Amino acid sequence: MNDTYSAAEFGSAPRIIARADHNISRSSVSNSALRVLYRLKDAGFQAFLVGGCVRDIMLGRHPKDFDVATNALPDQVRSLFRNSRLVGRRFRLAHVVFGREIIEVATFRAANAPSPSEEPVAEADADAEADEAEEGRVPEFEEADPAAGSRDRVHDTHGRLLRDNVYGTLEEDVWRRDFTVNALYYSIADFSLWDFVGGAEDIAAQRLRLIGDPEIRYREDPVRMLRAARFEAKLGFTLEASTAAPIESLRHLLAGVPPPRLFDETLKLFLTGHGERSLLVLRQRALLEVLLPSVDRYLSKHEGNVVEQLLRQGLRNSDARVGADKPVTPTYLFALLLYGPIAEGIEALPPQRWHEAGTILEGCDRALREASRRVTIPRRVALGVREMYALQPRLEQPRGKRALRLLEQPRFRAAYDLLILRAQFGLASSEIAAWWTRLQELSPEERLKSLDALPGASGHAPRDADQAASAAAGGLRTPHRRRRRRRSPGSA
Ligand code: ATP
Ligand code: MG
Repeated sequence: MNDTYSAAEFGSAPRIIARADHNISRSSVSNSALRVLYRLKDAGFQAFLVGGCVRDIMLGRHPKDFDVATNALPDQVRSLFRNSRLVGRRFRLAHVVFGREIIEVATFRAANAPSPSEEPVAEADADAEADEAEEGRVPEFEEADPAAGSRDRVHDTHGRLLRDNVYGTLEEDVWRRDFTVNALYYSIADFSLWDFVGGAEDIAAQRLRLIGDPEIRYREDPVRMLRAARFEAKLGFTLEASTAAPIESLRHLLAGVPPPRLFDETLKLFLTGHGERSLLVLRQRALLEVLLPSVDRYLSKHEGNVVEQLLRQGLRNSDARVGADKPVTPTYLFALLLYGPIAEGIEALPPQRWHEAGTILEGCDRALREASRRVTIPRRVALGVREMYALQPRLEQPRGKRALRLLEQPRFRAAYDLLILRAQFGLASSEIAAWWTRLQELSPEERLKSLDALPGASGHAPRDADQAASAAAGGLRTPHRRRRRRRSPGSA
């Protein structure tokens, strides 16, 4: 970013909005964040809330987390808080830990500190992050700065820091941020709001505007295009024309972003409560074509078909879960996103092979492999997706006591959710789906008895109804509209 965003060029005087003239009240700030801010201030440092939390409070929304910016160096922050640790490979940040809540404290960054895109994300991290996310926590993108370790720091022979181009002043910190609405600073010294870039006005106008020259900013870090789409979806803001315009010609640059970082971004797009809107925005801006080309291709080819409806409903369900503070998983997300490509792979084979386990797994593997060229799909997520699909025909053709054992499978719940969704769209027998729903509510003895009540069967060899459902399951029964209504055995 270098001098492109120097304070001088943009004018360094902030608009300081007094407490009486803005709506940020300390009662909307978590106690942990307040403790961090006050302790920094009492130790003589500048301390501000910054980024998404300020934006969200101004919008009357509940912030996901609280970020603090300060002129204290990471080591100084570390020694002020016993409950803190330094993180970040190169650009060091302090995490101050209060039980489950983490307050991220970042030292102001210099104007010429390189952008996040220059920091490679290690492949190996993706699995660890996925583990966290599996438990319902979406990993936070950790900004890291390659310069901190080497290039811009000059040490003398005793290792003393002589020059440090990594850390800077508040005035410099502003210009490296992405959108004006993300660059507002709330001061704990007098509760005023510092606005260098017209962010407060943009929040009022519900407008997303990149700081600086949009084309330069997107080239510096193409992920900002996805962030634009994410905030558009999340906040319902409008992209200002000059921020929106370059996306069309620059979106291909996303193909050069390290896949693990795109995995993180994908989770933030789809698993933070506005997944359905994210899908719409990503398609409108033709970004899905670069992020998940096979998904985009499928949706374009089968505009509005039942798989698109299933995907949207699945995302709506996830959004509702996030809204209710229930966990959501990347495995379920990728199973949904890849439904079309997986079905297409399966249906490329003759119908009599659709319900074979080998066919289903091969279809999954092919779709997972293709998607992971752009977006890392951690191994345990890929395995989970395969299991969810492999379980479909077994769920649709429950046989005797073996059916009951499926309940103990670790992936049962996810596979069952997928079955319910498929049944909702006529892609699986709703009778059988309802049977599984009832089964889970029964005691172990009652479950045994319920085997006799299996739809269309006595719990043994499959009858006609089962065969129809099973054929449907094997092929996931999707793309061919002409075939959609035919339900006779074997035709699906
Ligand atoms: P959310 O509510 O989703 O957490 P956020 O605005 O807090 O949104 P984060 O990804 O948590 O987004 O980043 C925190 C802040 O760091 C942003 O508000 C922005 O100021 C800055 N930032 C993050 N990523 C980038 C980027 N790629 N380029 C420039 N600035 C960034
Ligand atoms: Mg944030």
